[in-house]
Amino acid sequence: MTFAYRDGVLCAEAVPLDDIVRAHGTPCYVYSRAAIEQAYAEYAAALAGRDALVCFSVKSNSNLAVLALLARLGAGFDIVSGGELARVLAAGGDARKTVFSGVGKSEAEIVQALEAGILCLNLESEAELERVAAIATRLGRRAPIAFRVNPDVDAKTHPYISTGLKQNKFGVAQEDAERLYRHAASLAAVEVVGIGCHIGSQLTAAAPLIEAATRITALATRLAQAGIRLAHIDLGGGIGIRYRDESPQPIGATIAAMLERLGTQRAKLILDPGRSIVGNAGVLLTRVEYLKPGAAKNFLVVDAAMNDLMRPSLYGAWHEVMPVRAQQAAGAPVYDVVGPVCESADVLAKDRTLAAQPGDLLAIMSAGAYGMAMSSNYNSRPRAAEVMVDGSTAYLVRRRETHESLFALESVPTW
Ligand SMILES: *Cc1c(COP(=O)(O)O)cnc(C)c1O
Repeated sequence: MTFAYRDGVLCAEAVPLDDIVRAHGTPCYVYSRAAIEQAYAEYAAALAGRDALVCFSVKSNSNLAVLALLARLGAGFDIVSGGELARVLAAGGDARKTVFSGVGKSEAEIVQALEAGILCLNLESEAELERVAAIATRLGRRAPIAFRVNPDVDAKTHPYISTGLKQNKFGVAQEDAERLYRHAASLAAVEVVGIGCHIGSQLTAAAPLIEAATRITALATRLAQAGIRLAHIDLGGGIGIRYRDESPQPIGATIAAMLERLGTQRAKLILDPGRSIVGNAGVLLTRVEYLKPGAAKNFLVVDAAMNDLMRPSLYGAWHEVMPVRAQQAAGAPVYDVVGPVCESADVLAKDRTLAAQPGDLLAIMSAGAYGMAMSSNYNSRPRAAEVMVDGSTAYLVRRRETHESLFALESVPTW
């Protein structure tokens, strides 16, 4: 267990979380190196013996230490912006193992990606193909491209994180794919290298992923018959994790079923998991400020807020809350755990039985993915510190922002 109690204190690997707070304060994200390595190893084991590449989804956790760790393990990266590409390169990642997704790549981002030697631009519209071809022509390069195809599979997840249905903004329609591929193959400035899809996130059932694999494989076969041979098939990310009582399909079994659907396709298999690599490898530490009992609700006011961890406000997501010092919660009050931000949506956890007192530390679990990466400075709150634990050592991997850093880029006009 990565996060477990030892002598009554919740630890990350061998480091007591209250030690980390003494050194770095709250709110503070803590990641476990071992947990990230273990999750990556599950992917590597499931793909062993097959030409494959795991491209970590940078948007789920873009801390340089996380990226550097995964780069060292041999991972590639799935990026959605020029900023993420800069992070990958700064962390020692390889552009030739990096795929660039997203519906709105700018001119500057396409230039940046081509000059870095990106593995593939995953295109999401005909207009984007035209733009990429024009830029590649101007640069005197061939742009490696794939289309992200929308397989119209219902991922049966939260609508905000479902991406593979016809009404979603992502990808090109299956019906249009063959025509777009023929057009792309006719352009000298682009090199057709693959096909991609990504149907959504936090998928706890394997069936939609397997159905998408089936449809994308069928499309790749039809393209091959038309003389368009693809070097890779990218089946996206999306494998869910346990936040509460979900029982997500194991990574190995899901991948085995996808591989079966790929059949005799010899193309390299690319997967771009985010959440399933880092989600349960991180926690957010916070301190209780006040108890605020009320007639209708009891509130536990803590020093972390929706600007630090947006998932509960944005998706109604559920995160387990554990006291850093083990306590007997039986008979304790039921609280909504809320932050100091001036929004009624600033609720981190609803209806939790906690015996916490002011000053106590709490760990908000499963916060490694879409936690810090989605954080903001709303209410002029400096962003949290980030720490990576490796065995019995805790490394500060992002300093807490300061008040000065909040407005360092601002200026007042000389009226
Ligand atoms: C967000 C995203 C992922 C990662 O999704 P997870 O659910 O975190 O695994 C993978 N591929 C693409 C294209 C994405 O947009």
